[in-house]
Formats: sequence, C-alpha cells, structure tokens
Amino acid sequence: MTKSATAFADELPPITPKEHHNYVAFFLTLACNLHCDYCLNLHQNAKRSDQRAKRMLSAEDWITAANRLVLRNDLPLTLQGGEPTLHQGFYRLVNEANEEIKMDLMTNMMFDVDAFIKKVPVERFTRNAPYAAIRVSYHPGQNDIDDLIRKTLKMQDAGFRVGLYGIEHPDPEIRKHILEIQEKCRKLELDFRTKEFLGNYKGKLYGTFKFPDCVDGEKTKHCECRTSEILVDPAGHVYKCHSDLYKDRSPIAHILDAGFSQETIEEYRPCRYYGDCNPCDVKVKTNRFQVFGHTSVNIRNIQDNFSVPTERHPTP
Ligand code: SF4
Ligand code: SF4
Repeated sequence: MTKSATAFADELPPITPKEHHNYVAFFLTLACNLHCDYCLNLHQNAKRSDQRAKRMLSAEDWITAANRLVLRNDLPLTLQGGEPTLHQGFYRLVNEANEEIKMDLMTNMMFDVDAFIKKVPVERFTRNAPYAAIRVSYHPGQNDIDDLIRKTLKMQDAGFRVGLYGIEHPDPEIRKHILEIQEKCRKLELDFRTKEFLGNYKGKLYGTFKFPDCVDGEKTKHCECRTSEILVDPAGHVYKCHSDLYKDRSPIAHILDAGFSQETIEEYRPCRYYGDCNPCDVKVKTNRFQVFGHTSVNIRNIQDNFSVPTERHPTP
C-alpha cells in the first residue's frame, strides 16, 4: 500500500485508545547520536541501520497519524526512538499536530536547547502527571551530566518540566556514580530518578518478568500475545511489542491504514518468538491505577515451537 498521507488525511477514522490501553508511542527514528552498549535498540541483534534504510514517515505523515489520535488526559503521545529530535520533521510535528494532543518526549538531550526553546510550544509538553513530560536519559561516558544539568536548568527557566533518569547498572562503579549524580541533582532541586537495569549482564538476568524464560530464554517458543500499547516504528508500521518493532518482525498494521483502530490491538496474535521478548514488554510494573502486577503484553498458550505449524505473517 502506498501511503501518501496528506491525500487522504481527512478520510482516516479516529483512533481512540481504550481505558486499558496504556501507552501510545511514535518511534520517529531509531537513529541516535550516542552509542550506549546496553541500548535496547541495538540489543537482541536489532538492525538499527536496516531501520534507517527504510522509508521513514515524513513530517506530514506523522502529523496526519497524530491527528487520528483521540487521547485521554492521562495518555499522552510519547515521541521516542532512537533520538526522536533527530527526525527532520520533529519541530513541524510538535507545532502542527492538533493542539489538544499532549506529548511526552524521551530524549538524550543532545539537541540545541536554545533552538528547542525557541521552536517548541511549552503547552505541548505540559500536563498533570507524576513525572516530567520531557524525560532525559543520562548515559555515563556518552552524554555529559554537567551539560545535561545546564540544559535542564535552561529548559526549566523557559517553562518546560524536565526529568533526568539514570539506570541502576549492576556494575558497582556505574551504580555508585549514578547515585552520586542523583544526590548532586537533589541538591540542585532537579528531578533525577533511577531506572531498573533490565536484561542480561555478565550471565545474570536482571528484572522481574511475568512469564518464565520470556527474556533471554534458551529457546524460542510459540504463544499467543496481546498488547495494551500502540507502538509505531519510523516507517509507520504498528507492532504488538518492542521486540517485534526493533527487529522489524510481523507488523500488525500501518498507522495510516484506514482500517487500523483501537480494536486492532485487542486481538491475541500468534508469536513464535516467546523467549526473545524485550524486557520493556514483559517487566512486571505498577499501572496508572497503582496496581502492581501489570505487564504491557498478555501471553497465553505457551508451547514448544515444534508442536505448532509454521505461521505466515503477511506484511500489511
Ligand atoms: S541514547 Fe538511548 S537510543 Fe541512543 S544509544 Fe543510548 S540508549 Fe540507545
Ligand atoms: S511473546 Fe514476546 S516476542 Fe512475542 S509478541 Fe509477545 S512480547 Fe513480543
């Protein structure tokens, strides 16, 4: 299907996420100007360079896609990547999408903050939430914390709410450093939070996952899987999980398909890659109702692959 978004923008029906749909993310680009060795984008043999070679949605396409969304007050559109500000249409999207769409931004803040402040309306990233709409990840050895602090202070002066995040890496030295930086930020009254390290490090699996051997499993199995998220890759394809998105596996729809709606993600779909799940999808977490035990996907009927006939996954 050829996607010439603006030609049929008015014909596309709205997408209205349901109460139990917890996340809507546009991965504007998987390109990044940093090279963290624990990057989930690069992990699990994800082919970031292949993604870059694919046709990326234009600014017009992303604006059309965003304008289909009818979002609740507690459900923003999250822009992420890679580094989403590297998409050449980033500033057009944040300016031209329908005013009522609130956005969150996940960034490494390597961008020019003066240009950002000048070009981005503060209201776009302003909403009531227990965490900042602009979430900056600090990666020791990749981006410089003093630079991030300086930029954060400048962004805050301009009215943006910015939160800094560091990963509690299992390496004791890195962990110690992160906790020192957290203390430094606390003294500056900056919001610095830590995130759990997820995945394998030196042969040990970190994280609490709902399903046995779903991450880093010795072998992949067959199952049925249903997501609660709308995840859209740089080409506009919608996936049932992060693992599929990063590996460009079996998209379930395209964000500019007239037939794609909130109902599309409701379905349990067959998957042959149980065991190769991305920690983001299967990690046990607290949902927005503060109920612990939530995961982004639900999985059922786990079976050995040899007992299930090969599925064909037509690309939409
Ligand atoms: S900043 Fe984020 S996307 Fe970029 S390499 Fe590091 S972890 Fe990956
Ligand atoms: S079982 Fe794992 S790899 Fe398969 S769709 Fe679900 S989360 Fe993705």
